[in-house]
Amino acid sequence: MQFLDGAPWIRTFAVRTPTLPPATHTNVYLVGEKRLCAVDPASPYPEERAALDRQVDTLAASGEQVVEVLLTHHHVDHVSGAEHLARRLGVPIAAHALTARKLAGRVTVDRLIADGDQLPYGPAGMRAVWTPGHAPGHLCFADLAQNAVLAGDMVASVGTIIVEPDDDGDMAVYLDSLRLLRTLRPRCLLPAHGPPILDADGKLDFYVHHRLEREARVLAALSPVPHTVAELVPPAYPDVPPAIYPLAARSLLAHLIKLEREGRAQRDGDQWSSC
Ligand SMILES: [Zn+2]
Repeated sequence: MQFLDGAPWIRTFAVRTPTLPPATHTNVYLVGEKRLCAVDPASPYPEERAALDRQVDTLAASGEQVVEVLLTHHHVDHVSGAEHLARRLGVPIAAHALTARKLAGRVTVDRLIADGDQLPYGPAGMRAVWTPGHAPGHLCFADLAQNAVLAGDMVASVGTIIVEPDDDGDMAVYLDSLRLLRTLRPRCLLPAHGPPILDADGKLDFYVHHRLEREARVLAALSPVPHTVAELVPPAYPDVPPAIYPLAARSLLAHLIKLEREGRAQRDGDQWSSC
């Protein structure tokens, strides 16, 4: 269990999950004093769940009880241990309404969290910040005492963030949410994958810049001659190896949809061209 400097009420415990390589683990955050929330108990694997259970039991033995499970968003590498932990402890699962809708039939969300809601974990509490784009119901949780932001999948320090149009990811909305996080001037970002990000402003600026740079490449790859997404990947992603092309194609589609909405690309069936 790892502690963040100056914020001993924020703890992380990484569990192995079926996540996107090169990431292999998801950070479960245990936040609070006496009454704690567990954010993204994520693992479907029994031995990983058991390891988290032991950490939670150790905290309980010293008078720190997990009283609620919070979910940042609906992806499988964030929610797969939620029912297990919540039912074992007899505590509710809370998430955004759009996450609850996505999880219907898989994970029961007992309580809905809306943008701006205050949550009673940590010395000054946490505030929920709705940050859609990577997922429609994505929430970040800002620790108000330290202005540390539990960032879910908005950013990662290991691996990359994918915006998946087929699962309601939206590139334009994601960019807006990155800019929104930037206005909070976080002291640090606590991502779901990888260690804390201490240069929060720098990371958020880099992410926005990187996406806009990619968008420019996608735009440059378009021509009046229609092409499929697969054909556009090599010129738009000259820096990635062919093994990554299927993943790149999903991000490319997210960029194309944004450009189409802005009147800078046009679609005819599965063919894309410049305007
Ligand atoms: Zn995700």
